[in-house]
Amino acid sequence: MTAQILDGRKIASEIREDLAKKIDIIPGENMPVLAVVLVGENDASKVYVRNKKKAALEVGIGCEVIELNDTIGENALLEIIHELNDNPHVNGVIVQLPLPKHINPLKILSAINPEKDVDGFNPYNAGLLACKEPEAIVSATPKGILKLLQVANIDLVGKHAVIIGRSNIVGRPTAMLLLNNDCTVTIAHSKTTNLSELVKEADIVVAACGCAKLVKKDWIKKGAVVIDVGINRIDGKLCGDVDFDEVCEVASFVTPVPGGVGPMTVAMLLENTYEAACRQREHQHNHKCCCGHCKH
Ligand code: NAD
Repeated sequence: MTAQILDGRKIASEIREDLAKKIDIIPGENMPVLAVVLVGENDASKVYVRNKKKAALEVGIGCEVIELNDTIGENALLEIIHELNDNPHVNGVIVQLPLPKHINPLKILSAINPEKDVDGFNPYNAGLLACKEPEAIVSATPKGILKLLQVANIDLVGKHAVIIGRSNIVGRPTAMLLLNNDCTVTIAHSKTTNLSELVKEADIVVAACGCAKLVKKDWIKKGAVVIDVGINRIDGKLCGDVDFDEVCEVASFVTPVPGGVGPMTVAMLLENTYEAACRQREHQHNHKCCCGHCKH
């Protein structure tokens, strides 16, 4: 068997084209705006932020990058988040992770207005997702993974999905999203003792552990779908958490690295920003407040 490649780059580019068309018909001054907060000098973070900004501008989403010194204190950073929350021209607010050690990321992410939380990292949105509430803003990587599976017409109902990794930004929300789509979900992590046997039982494997080429051919059930989230480097060359060449021999579908989940993540961030902007406009339009402070 030779696996079909799930071409994230192509699917993401189609999603971005669709978004650009939708945004094109919005009057100029109402274009969606994404604010990206970047703290410190992490090179990888700078590249990610540059790519997000470029992708946003290409589809017609405004993007403001707020670059801050890594000596900034937690309170000063919270103040900036509050200003962005209150700024009516900003529709989406994200904070590029990781943050410097002296800043508690949960405190910062919790301060983002859930309506503008287009990364879906605020525990409020994570909670809505866990409760299968449709208004949850779902974080971009899990949303991109689901989209890849849907575009490939992969039936999820009753399928056993094994997620390798339990982080708040990938593993957990992916598990919730697949559970909400009727998969039977197992979450594995660094303390899991029988990882290869567990993975061997999976119809769908999502590898999100940051261990280069950990998942081998003999871990994969014949015909399983393998989604590789990992971004690692071996001798400077990008690779995922899956031994791609080997696994292609047994899986039915595989995502490549690069060109799989990564581009989908960016496309879903843009989609989340566009959808947040639409929802915010709708709320403003329908807002008939009795608080006495609003101008509606
Ligand atoms: P993380 O370090 O926060 O979490 C890694 C998880 O993997 C942890 O839960 C840990 O328990 C588990 N783990 C580590 N070693 C393991 C092992 N040997 N066996 C089983 N589980 C193990 O990382 P993260 O932020 O969740 O990201 C995971 C990977 O995905 C990284 O390579 C990251 O760069 C990549 N990533 C890619 C995208 C994308 O858009 N493609 C987005 C986010 C993260």
